[in-house]
Amino acid sequence: QLSKRLEIVASFIQPADSFADIGSDHAYLPCYAVKKGIVSRAVAGEVVDGPFKSAKRQVASEGLSKHIDVRKGNGLAVLEPGEVECVTIAGMGGPLIASILEDGVDKLQGVTKLVLQPNIASHSVRTWLDSNGWMIDDEAILEEDGQLYEVISAISGLKGRLTEQEIYFGPILIDNQNDAFRLKWQRELEQIEQVLKQLSEAKDSESAARKKEEMLKKKQWIKDVLEIEN
Ligand code: SAM
Repeated sequence: QLSKRLEIVASFIQPADSFADIGSDHAYLPCYAVKKGIVSRAVAGEVVDGPFKSAKRQVASEGLSKHIDVRKGNGLAVLEPGEVECVTIAGMGGPLIASILEDGVDKLQGVTKLVLQPNIASHSVRTWLDSNGWMIDDEAILEEDGQLYEVISAISGLKGRLTEQEIYFGPILIDNQNDAFRLKWQRELEQIEQVLKQLSEAKDSESAARKKEEMLKKKQWIKDVLEIEN
């Protein structure tokens, strides 16, 4: 049984000939996508030996070795340019996902869809997409086992289209607020209040003043988006 989180990632994969799942761990996502007939072939990439072996075992035990190629390597280095139409990167921090895309940008030639699931700091993924000519065409946010997860789907588009707030909240999520979205930003607001409290107790300094200003800006954004009265 696939997690709700990975089921949503799978639902964003466009039906295609092939896709690559980078940082695949047990290769649950490629196994599911092939079994469901979403794609006919997949590459599962893993940089760490343990998860690489787990992926190999899982693919073999499901009888999918002819359809899923498990490769060991760093990020997109496991791919040839033009080899796949869609790339998924799930279950990592936003900055790591952005750096995998940046380091492997030449391998994205021919890729028409990216499905990214940052566990934290999703704004770094949106910043990378927006600066590199990818347009966010769908997003989801969900809660599973007490954790909040965001899923971002992108197709090629124009650079620099998103506002600062759209980068922060998600251009699609901001207009389709569900319980998970409100929970995420209520939690974030509480954290910001904590930081502001600590800053008010800290010694005055230029960096503290800058941080306070940044926190106050974010606090106001969240209140505006959640429509919380001042
Ligand atoms: N994608 C799966 C999921 O969403 O359930 C697994 C997520 S797991 C937390 C992250 C995996 O990414 C780990 O197995 C880790 O070894 C792998 N990983 C981290 N950095 C990587 C990189 N640069 N290239 C390939 N795999 C990487």
